[in-house]
Amino acid sequence: MKKNLKQNLKNAYPKNINKIIELISSVADKRKVKAFMVGGVVRDLLLNNPSVDLDITLEGISGVEFAEIIADSLGASFKTYPQFNTSTIKTKDAVKIDIATCRKELYLKPGILPEVKSSDIKEDLKRRDFTINAIAISLNSKTFADVVDYYGGYPDLENHLIRIMHDNSFNDDPTRILRAIRFAARLNFNFDTDTKVLLNKAIKEKKLNSVSKNRIRQELRLILSEEDCFAQIKKLDEYINLDFIHPNLKISSSMDRSFSQARDYLLRFIKESNIKDLSKDARWIVNFMILIDDLKQDEMESILEDFNFTNSIKNKVIKYKKFSAQVSKLLGQADKLKASHVYGILNPLCLEASFAIISRTDKICVKDKIWSFIVKDRLIKIKVTGDDLKDMGITPGPKFDFILTRLLYAKIDKDIINKEDELKLIKKLI
Ligand code: ATP
Repeated sequence: MKKNLKQNLKNAYPKNINKIIELISSVADKRKVKAFMVGGVVRDLLLNNPSVDLDITLEGISGVEFAEIIADSLGASFKTYPQFNTSTIKTKDAVKIDIATCRKELYLKPGILPEVKSSDIKEDLKRRDFTINAIAISLNSKTFADVVDYYGGYPDLENHLIRIMHDNSFNDDPTRILRAIRFAARLNFNFDTDTKVLLNKAIKEKKLNSVSKNRIRQELRLILSEEDCFAQIKKLDEYINLDFIHPNLKISSSMDRSFSQARDYLLRFIKESNIKDLSKDARWIVNFMILIDDLKQDEMESILEDFNFTNSIKNKVIKYKKFSAQVSKLLGQADKLKASHVYGILNPLCLEASFAIISRTDKICVKDKIWSFIVKDRLIKIKVTGDDLKDMGITPGPKFDFILTRLLYAKIDKDIINKEDELKLIKKLI
């Protein structure tokens, strides 16, 4: 059956994205090359959940050359990755367009990245992980929005099935084991019968052991970035067992609630506050903190070492693990804790730690205190500067820092409001 998605494209995307699609279409026609939308973006479009990014693959021209033309026309910036013959364009309104060239992959050794050769769309789709990720949409004017589905991805989408492209797929690239589980958990899809057999076989044969820890860490990050993290962890435990992360890692009775609280708090933070200081990694870092919370300090540290996490992540997580229980206890003990005291307790930890602690605790009074810190108190600044203090004859040193901290705490507690109050307080302190 031939399927055309012209109307779906028009309805699914906002005007700016449709304009980009039209531009790609006309440049492809002019250059006499075939252009396609491919992969996850097509899957999500067909599931009525269009993504904001575009994934384009070309037949007959280098992705880098084509990207240059598109980026120029859009007045957008672009980055190229010559070793993969791909480019990424970022438009002024933050649309990300990945442009690649059709390729085929030769797997020489399991778990190792394959050798790559240029090819056509049929071969390019064949090298992909699952049929639902191997659908393309033609963008040239004559065949505009025609679905290109050589491998039955469309019916599999309709039947909610994850199906590998060929029997050797999990051996070629065992990270697909983790991808299969992630998509099944995210979309609530089943594995097709043969895929399930081969998935279980690959797991039993410990194929993941041939994958570098760096690649596993990247997959782990993606799993922990998913919106329904508990569904992911449960599915992972059901198929692989969490001991592939650490032998003592288990699903705890509170994990489900903590993950969903974390999701809600992060969403609320993004929706309600116009503060933009939360890193794009925040979700997975908070979920990671929740995941490892019941492990001992040394067990958690061995995960950080094993999977080669960056020093910045290590510092955040180690500090969280060391102090979170104590912090929760302190915040829960005294109901009438001053806001500055809460600041003093939470500020030495990273922001993700505050989100993890607020998601783990059941105590409303602790939650309220942490939330005030997150959205309000941690952002308070004093007006007086170091130069003002120097002008008042105070030399930099411990006294200097003491005064600045006292001023900040007084402002957080609303004991002082403006610069005049601050100057008065300084006089009292010296
Ligand atoms: P997400 O919604 O999580 O971003 P995605 O399907 O877009 O999912 P990406 O990792 O961005 O996933 O990959 C884009 C496409 O590249 C996939 O849809 C799939 O066609 C292909 N792909 C990615 N990883 C693999 C892999 N390990 N093996 C084969 N094909 C892959």
